Amino acid sequence: MEHIRVHDKTFVPFLTANQISDRVAAMAAQISKDYQGKRPLLLAVLNGSFMFAADLFRLLTIEAEISFIKIASYQGMRSSGKVVTAIGMEQDLSGRAIILLEDIVDTGKTLHHFIPTLQQQHPASIAIATFLHKPEATVFPLSLDYVGFSIPNRFVVGYGLDYDGLGRNHYQVYQLAAEPTIES
Ligand code: 5GP
Repeated sequence: MEHIRVHDKTFVPFLTANQISDRVAAMAAQISKDYQGKRPLLLAVLNGSFMFAADLFRLLTIEAEISFIKIASYQGMRSSGKVVTAIGMEQDLSGRAIILLEDIVDTGKTLHHFIPTLQQQHPASIAIATFLHKPEATVFPLSLDYVGFSIPNRFVVGYGLDYDGLGRNHYQVYQLAAEPTIES
């Protein structure tokens, strides 16, 4: 795999397509086992999770539903401060086994602020499945039930994740390259 340019930045290969598909398949198998007979409702957090959600969902071997919601805006290379209200939550969540699908948990702020909103609807349970997690960056308390990969605190793109709108359309995940050192 070669490095890629997204806007003004260079990104280097980090996770291969095979690593990703093996891990997503393992997560789907685990969720299928844990939620047998519970007909979970997966809530995929847009935009970043759409690729992970599609791959995970089609590998589930149990009855399950999926819906897509939008809860936060995120620009540039840092999480934005404000979490907006969820758009797209038309379903009745009461008594349902909810599994939130995220592309990446960074500070944990987005989900930490969103979970109380979900709880108001009295679901039977709420679990979190995230494709990526940056443990070093997470400061808001969250319990993550399914984690694809724990990664260092470095900006990544690909497999649905963007840098200012671009870079989502790669099956691989790429990591921001270290800044070149200036040699005199
Ligand atoms: P949190 O609220 O956990 O700090 O941030 C979660 C959101 O920030 C993710 O859903 C994602 O949109 C964005 N984010 C955090 N880290 C990265 C990253 O390394 N790459 C990209 N593309 N988005 C990130």
